[in-house]
Amino acid sequence: MKALIAGGGMSGLATAVNLLDLGIDVELVEADEIFGGRASSWKDEDGDMIDNALHVFFPYYVNLLNFLKKMGIEDNILWKQTEFYYMQEGGREAVLKFSNLPAPLHALTAFLGLLKSYKAIPRWKLFFTMAAMGSAILYSDKKLEKLDEITFGQWAHRYSPKDAFLPLEPGVNGLTFTPSSMISAKVMLNWFRKVAASPESARVGFANGGLGDIWVDTCLDYIHEKGGKTSLGKHVSAINLEGTKVKSVTIGGRDRKADIYISAISPYALRGILPKEAFNLQYFRNLWHFQYAPSLSLQVWFDRKLTDVDVTFFSNNCIFNTYADLSNVLPDIFSGGSMFEMVLSPADHILGLPDSIIYDIAIKRIRELFPSATGAEVRKYKVVRERQGVYRALPGMEKRRPYQRSPYDNLYLTGDYTRTYVSSGGMEAAIWTANHCAEIIAADKLGKSISLNIEWKPNKGLLPFIKPAAYAGIGLAGLGVLNRMRKAGKSSTSE
Ligand SMILES: Cc1cc2nc3c(=O)[nH]c(=O)nc-3n(C[C@H](O)[C@H](O)[C@H](O)COP(=O)(O)OP(=O)(O)OC[C@H]3O[C@@H](n4cnc5c(N)ncnc54)[C@H](O)[C@@H]3O)c2cc1C
Repeated sequence: MKALIAGGGMSGLATAVNLLDLGIDVELVEADEIFGGRASSWKDEDGDMIDNALHVFFPYYVNLLNFLKKMGIEDNILWKQTEFYYMQEGGREAVLKFSNLPAPLHALTAFLGLLKSYKAIPRWKLFFTMAAMGSAILYSDKKLEKLDEITFGQWAHRYSPKDAFLPLEPGVNGLTFTPSSMISAKVMLNWFRKVAASPESARVGFANGGLGDIWVDTCLDYIHEKGGKTSLGKHVSAINLEGTKVKSVTIGGRDRKADIYISAISPYALRGILPKEAFNLQYFRNLWHFQYAPSLSLQVWFDRKLTDVDVTFFSNNCIFNTYADLSNVLPDIFSGGSMFEMVLSPADHILGLPDSIIYDIAIKRIRELFPSATGAEVRKYKVVRERQGVYRALPGMEKRRPYQRSPYDNLYLTGDYTRTYVSSGGMEAAIWTANHCAEIIAADKLGKSISLNIEWKPNKGLLPFIKPAAYAGIGLAGLGVLNRMRKAGKSSTSE
C-alpha cells in the first residue's frame, strides 16, 4: 500500500514515520525548499541561526515529547526554571515564580509574588485576576466546552474589572497570536488549567539549537532508512476525485497516484486545491471558517549582555510580548552579547510595515524596558516573515476543526488545526493529529488497532479537595447560622 503525504511540516513528517512503522510505503512532498514547516530554522549569510520563530515546549506536550524520545532526541530540550519575568519600564522586573508546593498553592504563591512588583495595574485588580483564574481551575470539562461560545475577554469582564487580566495578555498574544478580545475563552482557560495543574507543568523548555536542526534531519534519516521517499519544491496543486475517492493529485502539472492520500498542509492551502464539488460537504466547507492569526519574529544581536535571565520574558504594551535572551538560554550557540528573540503578535497591524520601521518601534521599547540597552550597540537584526502564524482560535472554531478521517474513502487530514483535544494549534496538536491519523489509517486500511497517543495526567495536588472543602465550609457556616437562629428563638420564647 502506498501513501502520498502532502506537506513536510511536523505533522507530515511524523505521519510519514508512523505509516512507515505500519509497513506502508510513503512518499512525502513538500512545496517549500526546506522541511519542518513552521517549526524550522536555517542559517543566515553570516552563519547565524535564524529560527522561524521562538518555540517553547511544555511538559504536558506528552505526545510531542514521546515522539522526540522515539527519534532519540528528547535530550535536546532544555528545561528551565518554573518562572516567567515581566519586564517593565526602567528595568523593573516582576517575577511570576511557581514554587514546588502542591497545586493550586504553587499558582497562588506565584500570583502573590507577582503582586509585589507588577505595576501595570493597581494591586487590588490582581486579586480579581487571581480569584477568577482560581475558580477556572475547578471548571468541569463540560463547562469549559461551553466557553468556546465566548471570548476570553468577555469571560474576564464577567469576573473582574477592566484591565485586571493585563498580566496574562502577553501570554495570550504569544501563544495564540490573537488578543483576549477575540480568542475563545475555552482555548485560553484550557491552556491556563494545564499550566496551573502542577508545579512541574509550569515549566518551559527550549530547543537546544536551531529548531529545525534538532528534529527535522533525524526524522528524515528515519524515513529514508525505512525506505520512505521525500522531496522538496513539490507543490500539490490539485486533488482529483473519482466518485467518493481521490483518484490522483497534481504535482508540477502531472497526475500522481497512490492508495491513500494525506493532507498535512494548512487549511488555507487545502481549500485552494480541493475540487469544487468537495464544498457540497459541510466537512470541507468548514475549512473556509479558518482565519490566519499572523505573527512576525524579530531577532536582535547586541554587543553586550543586557540581562542574565534565562527564561521567558513577558512585556505589556509592546509590539512584542513573549521573548527570551538566547545568549542565556542557549549560551553554547549564542555567545558574546545578548540575542533577543521576540514574538511580534498579534501582528495584523504591523505585517505591512517595512523591516526597518518594525525594528525602530521594537528597539525604542527595548531601551525603555532594559536601560542597559541604551549604551549597547546593535550588531544586527532580522525580521523573520517566513512561515508565520497559526489559525485564529475564535469562539466556535473548535467544532469547525476537521476530523482526521475525511468523507472521501482514501483522504486523511493531519496538522495542528485538525481536531484534537489540544485547544488551538501548536506542536503537541501537530503530533497528536499525526498519531491519530495513523491510528485511523491502521484501523481503516489494515484492520489493525494501534494506540499511539497517550493522555497527559497531571499530579492534581490539593485540587480534588478544594471543591469538597468549599462545600464543607459553606455547610458548616450554614449550620452555624441555623444554630444561632435556634438559640435566638429559644431565648425569645423563654422571655
Ligand atoms: C511564530 C510561531 C511561533 C510558534 N510558537 C510555538 C510554541 O512556542 N509552541 C508550540 O507548541 N507551537 C508553536 N508554534 C506552532 C507550531 O510551529 C505549529 O503548530 C507546527 O509547526 C505545525 O506543524 P504542521 O505540520 O501542522 O504545519 P506546518 O508546519 O505549517 O506544515 C505544513 C507544510 O505544508 C507545506 N505545504 C503547504 N501547501 C503545500 C502544497 N500545496 N503542497 C505541498 N506542501 C505544501 C508547507 O510548506 C509546510 O511545510 C509557533 C508557530 C509560529 C508560526
